[in-house]
Amino acid sequence: MTSPTNAHAAKGSSKPRILTGDTPTGMLHLGHWVGSVKRRVQLQSTHDCYFILANMHAFTTRVEKSTDIRRDCIEIVRDYLAMGIDPEVSTIFLQSEIPAIAELTFLFAMLLPFNRVMRNPTLKTEIELKGLGENYSFGFPLYAVGQTADILAFRPVGVPVGEDQVPHLELTREVARRFDQIFCGVDPQTEDDDYVKHGGALPIPRADVGKVGRLVGTDGKNKMSKSLNNAIFISDSPKDVEKKVKAIFTGRQSPTEPGDVTNALFQYVEAFIDDEARVAELKSRYAAGDNLGDGHVKLEVAASLNKLLDPMRERRKAYEGKDDVILDILKKGSQRANDLAEETLALVKEKANLITYPRVVRYV
Ligand code: ATP
Ligand code: MG
Repeated sequence: MTSPTNAHAAKGSSKPRILTGDTPTGMLHLGHWVGSVKRRVQLQSTHDCYFILANMHAFTTRVEKSTDIRRDCIEIVRDYLAMGIDPEVSTIFLQSEIPAIAELTFLFAMLLPFNRVMRNPTLKTEIELKGLGENYSFGFPLYAVGQTADILAFRPVGVPVGEDQVPHLELTREVARRFDQIFCGVDPQTEDDDYVKHGGALPIPRADVGKVGRLVGTDGKNKMSKSLNNAIFISDSPKDVEKKVKAIFTGRQSPTEPGDVTNALFQYVEAFIDDEARVAELKSRYAAGDNLGDGHVKLEVAASLNKLLDPMRERRKAYEGKDDVILDILKKGSQRANDLAEETLALVKEKANLITYPRVVRYV
């Protein structure tokens, strides 16, 4: 995160704020870890962290699978806890429990030309990869607008995400600039980091892309994705991890054939083997065809992965069968998230000249 302070620090916290999250379309995988969650765990101590479960957005492609969406919300929290997110420090919450997000989505939809939303390359890729054809719901493109509200409701300075989310973040930044220009009189020439200083209600948040912005799936082709059957999950057993790593496709025939060190297997070597000298050695022998078989490299990758995942498996075990504990974490988190999102909504309504009355959202 580049900005040292957050002009809109949450009540009770002087730390700069971040917001990010996941769609409950399955369980979390290694792509989530390297692309976003690892960064979140690091930022917990220095930032006020908000993590959203975008469950309404899961309905865009799974409207007939609402029980799965519910289950995945709970499993993702289990994955968060396994990976080291601390619910006492960070706020984990449900999108559907934050009414301000839905209200902001409606208003922000007015700030974006329809064609601009449809031009978003991430939406186009998703339509293609998920085989949605012409039959996607009206809510599908609307989710891109909704995501601007998910983020801006929390006025964060940054959003730790994988590379595929950068176009969405750009849309969010456009909404924030437009809002601040139209309703807060901020000069369009203003630098992004100075919008709040110049009277803007909404900061222009930055995408914070991790070291590995796009981890390829075990198919060796597409982004590792929970919807594409090419993922190694955080909750996979050691045996499953080995099996999946063995199946990574490289197309190489023999250990003496010079190998391509930019292939999918070597993306895993770079991302998950910590010993840099060993990585360099593997790369040079593989590239030279120095009798280093794919099978051997795969064994080393699987061993590194299991070393990373073992403590996560242990932590996950502690929450097995404890859905009540997880639901309580979500309730407390959603309450905290509402406190902040309501503050943003009141500010936005005031700036947009909407007649409005003070209100609170409280669970009983
Ligand atoms: P879906 O297929 O349903 O879109 P997904 O696997 O892409 O699921 P999301 O919930 O859309 O997961 O993404 C959550 C976060 O994880 C985002 O910040 C996204 O950029 C990041 N992420 C997901 N997959 C990867 C990956 N393979 N590499 C790096 N980051 C990733
Ligand atoms: Mg995705």
